[in-house]
Amino acid sequence: MRLLLVEDDPVLGPRVRQDLRRAGYAVDLVDNGIDGQFQGEESAYDAVILDLGLPGRSGLEVLQNWRRAGSRLPVIVLTARDAWHERVDGLKAGADDYLGKPFHQEELLARLDALLRRAQERSEPQLFVAGLSLDEDSQRVILADGEVVELTGTEFRLLRYMMIHPGILLSKSRLTEHVYEGDADRDSNVIEAYIKRLRQKVGTSLIETRRGQGYIFGGDGT
Ligand code: CA
Repeated sequence: MRLLLVEDDPVLGPRVRQDLRRAGYAVDLVDNGIDGQFQGEESAYDAVILDLGLPGRSGLEVLQNWRRAGSRLPVIVLTARDAWHERVDGLKAGADDYLGKPFHQEELLARLDALLRRAQERSEPQLFVAGLSLDEDSQRVILADGEVVELTGTEFRLLRYMMIHPGILLSKSRLTEHVYEGDADRDSNVIEAYIKRLRQKVGTSLIETRRGQGYIFGGDGT
């Protein structure tokens, strides 16, 4: 899954990006409201972490502009710890959740996970699809026969995205958008190579190829 992080603090921004990457997300970091709003409009993100105090344009204004334009992007706003009015303003502007600074990375990750589950309309914390069980903490997958298989970062992001969208035709460009960061090499052959490696790991039948269209996850198991 790919996240947009809008945070101007030169220490906090890169640190949170690193935490999120380690947790298995692709992350684009921008440090001002104008670029933040643009990125949120132009690119396909699964969720946004939005600081409210930003140069250029405030986070509140960015959020209001997205919502006015009909965007339903899941958004967590970062607020000052004791400013209850910021939390109220953020929620009224259309935020799905908030987190007061300073925060522990575990809390951000837990809130993000809960927000993504709500957005994906699933309640169970563990992804279990087509006989596969994804361990998101250790970034491994457990096969139907109980075998535990290690995944690389990209394989994990790709498999998680497909497991969240079983039975749906996923184009290469959609997979690329949700698995890679904005400045990554977006050659569609790369996705093909990753799909091939995933098939070797989880079983060929689980990922169906629709020539010229994309892939469907789930195979006969769903
Ligand atoms: Ca700030």
